Amino acid sequence: MQRISKLILGLLLTGNAIAADMVLTNGKIYTVDATQPWAEAVAIEDGRFIFVGNAEGVAQFIDGDTAEFDLQGRFVLPGLIDSHTHPGLVARSVDYVELPWTPETKTEMFDALVAYADANPDKEFIVGGRWPSGLFGEEGPNRQELDAVISDRPVILTDTSGHAQWLNSRALEVLGIDRNTPDPIPGLSYLYRDADGEPTGWIKERAIAGQLAAAGIGDHVSADSLAGFLDYLAGLGVMAVFDGGNSDEGYRAAAELDRANRMPLRYAGSYRIENANQFSGAVEGLKRLRETYGGRRLKFNTIKVMFDGVSEIRTSAVLEPFLGEEGNRGKTVVDAARLRDFILELHEEEIDLHLHTVGDAAVRTALDGVEAAHEELGGAPNVRITLCHLELIDEADFDRFSQLGIFSNFSPQWHGGHIRGAELTLGQKRYDRMFRAQPLLDRSVTVTFSSDITNAGKWRTDRASPYFGMQVGMTRVEPEFGDKATIRPPADERLSLEDMIRGYTLNGAAQLGLAHDMGSIEVGKLANLVVLDRDLFATLPDQIRLARPTAVLMDGKLTSGELPRP
Ligand SMILES: [Zn+2]
Repeated sequence: MQRISKLILGLLLTGNAIAADMVLTNGKIYTVDATQPWAEAVAIEDGRFIFVGNAEGVAQFIDGDTAEFDLQGRFVLPGLIDSHTHPGLVARSVDYVELPWTPETKTEMFDALVAYADANPDKEFIVGGRWPSGLFGEEGPNRQELDAVISDRPVILTDTSGHAQWLNSRALEVLGIDRNTPDPIPGLSYLYRDADGEPTGWIKERAIAGQLAAAGIGDHVSADSLAGFLDYLAGLGVMAVFDGGNSDEGYRAAAELDRANRMPLRYAGSYRIENANQFSGAVEGLKRLRETYGGRRLKFNTIKVMFDGVSEIRTSAVLEPFLGEEGNRGKTVVDAARLRDFILELHEEEIDLHLHTVGDAAVRTALDGVEAAHEELGGAPNVRITLCHLELIDEADFDRFSQLGIFSNFSPQWHGGHIRGAELTLGQKRYDRMFRAQPLLDRSVTVTFSSDITNAGKWRTDRASPYFGMQVGMTRVEPEFGDKATIRPPADERLSLEDMIRGYTLNGAAQLGLAHDMGSIEVGKLANLVVLDRDLFATLPDQIRLARPTAVLMDGKLTSGELPRP
């Protein structure tokens, strides 16, 4: 705002426009500014846009010192925002075993595991994944099956949902897990047991996170491995990320990058909680992160709550029971009344809230809690409230998202059916009603998009790319399935390119509280833009994932690629 008033003052005093540091002309600029969706030229001064419009208009900002560039008709977007991802999880998994994502048989999976074990004889623990729960029955995987493949070293494998683990007997032994080990949250975060109460090796919802941390497993994040992922995103034109939950180790690495001026984008960290006991200390926890690690680009203003689990392992909270388990509807970590009280506390502190909500009952309980907070305050709380994942939403709840001003975050890379298994626990009918953003868009809800990448292997197959997300969000076809791919129902949930771009730019900026600075190409905002190698509006939807920037400009500075000179 200060900049603008200085600029306006300058105009009033002199009657002339200020000369710009840089001017870009002859572009096909998609601004995501509703008052002027397209422009052909911009002028930039001190890292911000001071003009957005046509060639004649921009001329007045040019003097002898202005750097001029001709975009040669190229397509330009605002800087992109990834509003829910996991740089820490990606960074710590760079040397994990990478199993085939959609193996036809268990043998295929075991072959990859043995090859990794043979190639890494010095690795004390074999850690990685991902195994699809659909390959196993209702009893899940068991340790004996893994023992038959590797028994002399501990093996810890995560499933494709990221919410379950599979351990061999050696791993259970080394971690000190046996029939006497308590379940953190029975029915939600627990050790699956056989009829005798003995753990089978199937672990749900981080139930052994404490034991793993004590053994120092899975928590090594180096600044370099973190930088590898963040630089990749920045090179694609991503200028801000929201981290959906990281350890101190992960934030320490992020702070190290920030302090060394190696942080390539704005990084919104969160304090993550996953059980009812953690609600009372969460605000303090967030403040501690802020004080310890906060800096120039690394900020902390959001608490992330694992409000339910996932449907693949029957830990999401659902309105109708899971198939084959008539009494089981999953559960949320707290009820609506506790959530209301927590929102009232956040309101006092002006801290934002990000809720992992997968099942329709989790969504409803969250909305009930938010509604109760509105009632208590006689209006909206001073808290940006985001519900993420949103795999199932009951018809009756769509209107409430707009009434309550909820930010709705989807990770469209999942929308083609990349993760299997929920069809077995929810049944085909519910499975075919998942991932529905269109009813929310129709109600003018602020819908945001993100990658939700949790392992390095998937980053390396470009799934973290926003262009990949745009493609799958528009087509609901999974590129990795090749010839076997079909449109994942409902087909009328294929989203428009305009909505995809808005969700990856302006709406994402709004969710992160950055809309005053980012998300659109508008006078007064930071000069963030991405010059692409193709016009997305003239690209076939199934080719959009191939888009790449030829130049990325952040805060008025070229950060990758090059801009053509006239
Ligand atoms: Zn996530």
